Amino acid sequence: MSRPVFRFAPSPNGYLHLGHAYSALLNARMAAESGGRLLLRIEDTDESRSRPEFITAIFEDLAWLGLSWEEPVRVQSQHLADYHVNLMRLWNMGAIYPCFCSRKEALVHALPIRDPDGQPHYGGACRDLPRHVAEALIARGDIHGWRVGMNRLGDPQAAVWGDAMIAKLQVGSSYHIAVVTDDALQGVTDVVRGKDIEPATPLHMLLQRLLRLPAPRYLHHDLVRDADGRKLSKSIASASLRQLRAEGATPDDIRRRLGLA
Ligand code: GLU
Repeated sequence: MSRPVFRFAPSPNGYLHLGHAYSALLNARMAAESGGRLLLRIEDTDESRSRPEFITAIFEDLAWLGLSWEEPVRVQSQHLADYHVNLMRLWNMGAIYPCFCSRKEALVHALPIRDPDGQPHYGGACRDLPRHVAEALIARGDIHGWRVGMNRLGDPQAAVWGDAMIAKLQVGSSYHIAVVTDDALQGVTDVVRGKDIEPATPLHMLLQRLLRLPAPRYLHHDLVRDADGRKLSKSIASASLRQLRAEGATPDDIRRRLGLA
């Protein structure tokens, strides 16, 4: 039997905090207990938020925690062509369409329904653009993203996202198509990630079905909370691993604090 494949896939938008440490250590433990492999993947397709120094810091902080992973590490920004191939397959089957609306235009045409991230469903006209028109706009270089033509697909679970944006290659953000493409290309069998991403899983499973990719097992773990019960996040400047380390914490302290000693 082939070995299970786990992955930890952080986005280099900030320094890793305890929540990341929990996810990484849990993946490492599950890989070790099942005789599996552990991959590290850098999800840096959001060019506006990713920074090289955060990638370096991810390697340093994970090594400090005592983790090791297989080389080479897949860095998503170096594989945009792979995501484009899958986007073209989805377009050819009529499952997605290019959307040329700016953020503002999309909001003007929004439907009165919100997705799990709190964004209104898209209700604009790009879905009905004839293909030759869309092709001409792409050929002349118009900025576009790719949306799922959700109501054609008959998937009530994924439908909570409406016509979800799964990629914006030109502006470097393609989380949904990239994660699904890479999990398949890397042979990931077990996706272990936080409950914050759980709502996106039906969308990922829909893309896997359409692209005929193997479906990994999913486990969504609880989020690490701060003393006030708030979810830790890079944006509210929760204690980063490097800050805890500077304050004298050891890797064992971190593991104990997370219940993974
Ligand atoms: N890159 C995502 C994040 O850092 C995680 C993606 C995943 O584990 O599927 O939030």
